[in-house]
Amino acid sequence: MTDVTQVTQGLTLLGATGSIGASTLDVVARHPGRFRVFALTAHRSADALLALCLKHAPRYAVLSGLPEDAALRRRYAEAGCRSELLFGAQALEQVAADPECDVLMAAIVGAAGLAPTLAGARAGKRLLLANKEALVMAGPFFMRAVREHGATLLPIDSEHNAVFQCLPQEAAQSSGRASVAAVRRIMLTASGGPFRSAPLERLSRVTPDEACAHPNWAMGRKISVDSATMMNKGLEVIEARLLFEVPAERIEVLIHAQSIIHSLVEYVDGSVIAQLSNPDMRVPIAHALGFPERIDSGATPLDLAAIGQLSFERPDAQRFPCLGLAYAALREGGTAPAVLNAANEVAVAAFLEGRLRYTAIPQVIEQALARTPASAADSLDTVLEADRGARRAAADAAALLMGKAA
Ligand code: NAD
Ligand code: MG
Repeated sequence: MTDVTQVTQGLTLLGATGSIGASTLDVVARHPGRFRVFALTAHRSADALLALCLKHAPRYAVLSGLPEDAALRRRYAEAGCRSELLFGAQALEQVAADPECDVLMAAIVGAAGLAPTLAGARAGKRLLLANKEALVMAGPFFMRAVREHGATLLPIDSEHNAVFQCLPQEAAQSSGRASVAAVRRIMLTASGGPFRSAPLERLSRVTPDEACAHPNWAMGRKISVDSATMMNKGLEVIEARLLFEVPAERIEVLIHAQSIIHSLVEYVDGSVIAQLSNPDMRVPIAHALGFPERIDSGATPLDLAAIGQLSFERPDAQRFPCLGLAYAALREGGTAPAVLNAANEVAVAAFLEGRLRYTAIPQVIEQALARTPASAADSLDTVLEADRGARRAAADAAALLMGKAA
């Protein structure tokens, strides 16, 4: 039930037309009075954004991938939309930092989300972070902005949200920066994706649709491929290192095919605390939206007896080389995670467009890492420069590998 005395919070949702965007709006719609949708953004999906505006009536709607378009503005008005339509990437930063935005959900996919997410951090927002690529790229620099501007960072990635919930509350409440002295290990769970037990020799022929057919989660196509290669888990190891300040050697990955346990924290006394739920992103989203209160997410209650068994195994390094590449980039530090992320984005896009074999994805990333020297990631400019350099190196590596495959 909604508490009528509470102050309504203005929500800016970056990436409203995506999978996380839809789950967020579903939770928000269950709590009228608690949230008011202030701004919704999409890249180029004008029709999908219009439909959301008609339903949620935000003050602003942003199409970041389109130039000013008077005809589109008229079309929105004629459809009965009263939101003000803004165009271009700069408008993302505007709606993220606006004083009327109290809660910022960062759910753009990839490096494109960095600038507006950072703008929200610098404006001291309550920042709900799904866009892990932004954090992986900008690393300690991003975390410093969060600290210096008094932003509150709440993880939406189900694993990090689980870890957050398993950490002591007084630590968890200080914007995700927990005291980890008593933590022996963080265990991030991973489903293993659609190719967990496929014959290794089949992997060079898998198609984009096969890679996107995740057994437990319905997600955007980029993160679905990342889940198949386990680069998603690699990015999450880096994300955990940044959010919780636990050294890399104390962050482990555990394959758990059912995606019921979302992660575990082991303490020095041998106690292990886990967070469980059905695989439904509305659970971590509702947790972060309501925090420190608990609010309804709409998720189906967990029925462990019906599930019967939970299984666990160690990841196979040969099947999932991307995981090792991510640990290597984390150990190297500086701009290496930004290079890893950019090269992965290039390789995954080429795979999704049918231009690169699935098994060439880690090869492209490895070559980009080898060819792009890491430097300190101490400013937005150095991070963006590393991102651009890595994209060039990855595109070159991909072109060579495509030539060989032809
Ligand atoms: P998606 O592809 O379904 O949606 C992406 C959204 O970003 C869309 O609204 C799109 O319009 C927008 N977008 C795409 N490119 C853009 C650009 N260049 N500039 C501005 N906006 C752009 O993706 P998703 O599955 O919702 O994932 C979003 C983020 O959340 C990713 O970083 C992903 O890793 C993370 N995440 C997703 C899930 C999940 O279950 N889907 C779980 C954990 C973390
Ligand atoms: Mg995750």
